[in-house]
Amino acid sequence: MYDAIVVGAGPAGLLAAVYLARFRRSVAVIDAGQSRVALIPRSHNYPGFGDGVSGLTVLDMLRAQLGHYAVDRLGAFVEGAERREDGFHLQTRTGALAARQLLLATGVTDIPPAMPHVREALEAGVLRYCPVCDAYEVIDKAVGVYADGEAGVGEALYLRHFSADITLFMAPGGQVLTQAQRRRLAEAGIRWNEAPVHAVRREGVRVAAVHEGGTAWCDTLYCALGVAVHSQIAQGLGATLDGTGYVQVDAHHATDVPGLYAAGDVSAGLNQIAVALGGAAIAASAMHRALPMGTPGTPIASR
Ligand SMILES: Cc1cc2nc3c(=O)[nH]c(=O)nc-3n(C[C@H](O)[C@H](O)[C@H](O)COP(=O)(O)OP(=O)(O)OC[C@H]3O[C@@H](n4cnc5c(N)ncnc54)[C@H](O)[C@@H]3O)c2cc1C
Repeated sequence: MYDAIVVGAGPAGLLAAVYLARFRRSVAVIDAGQSRVALIPRSHNYPGFGDGVSGLTVLDMLRAQLGHYAVDRLGAFVEGAERREDGFHLQTRTGALAARQLLLATGVTDIPPAMPHVREALEAGVLRYCPVCDAYEVIDKAVGVYADGEAGVGEALYLRHFSADITLFMAPGGQVLTQAQRRRLAEAGIRWNEAPVHAVRREGVRVAAVHEGGTAWCDTLYCALGVAVHSQIAQGLGATLDGTGYVQVDAHHATDVPGLYAAGDVSAGLNQIAVALGGAAIAASAMHRALPMGTPGTPIASR
């Protein structure tokens, strides 16, 4: 029985585990190895790195920091969890683990466009998911937005602040734009093309949306098809989710299930590394305060 189990080892899970270890709590971190951070070619808004930093470097640095503490780390997918009188019991394919408290830092996954070599396109900056992260990098470029409904209209309007050359493309099966949406786009000087895009193709530093009417080239394409929120464990434990599937948390990052916390992208809020780190610090501090003081579960020795 650990004091705490952290599910997910992206920025939120790794930093929460550092905090908990430094609070002399026995901690296990279980991770399926699919952090969104690993997809970031270079982040320019991660604190302290004026010249930018790659997502893999961020992960390596946080993993190395956690390596200073005796935290159990398990590479596995948590298939489900049950809340019993003594705490949370988790199942993975390789076995079961239990803890008094549980932090979910399981993140989200972006829904990709139907195109080959998505990872390489992200790496080259011709495909992007997050205008908050990197719209600064596309100032005055030819920008496409690929979406299936209102989210695309919102994202195109957001990006119009950064470039005058914005075109909204629609995914197959997407919603037909309403008159009101067309008016909003036209007033902002945004083009739209409602012929469904049947292929997205990259050539070097450009990307093409191929639709019935022809092929449109852009410098970069923002995919606004949404995210899959990894909140199944929270849902199974009875925690409240919002309409998109994000886990609802209070100011301490506690859910409405006693002993269950959530931080990072999986919890409702801005999907950013700085926010994930802040949430992790708040959640870990609250978890520590909620556990009995003066009785560390298993002594944590500094390595
Ligand atoms: C292309 C791209 C560019 C971005 N650029 C920036 C940027 O410049 N600046 C910025 O601040 N943010 C950026 N982001 C967003 C940033 O990556 C996320 O906000 C951040 O990764 C959130 O961290 P997290 O710890 O919540 O989740 P993640 O980093 O996604 O980690 C979640 C972990 O939980 C694991 N997991 C999920 N379910 C389970 C389970 N059931 N059992 C075990 N493990 C599980 C996953 O495998 C994963 O390893 C970008 C994202 C993308 C995709």
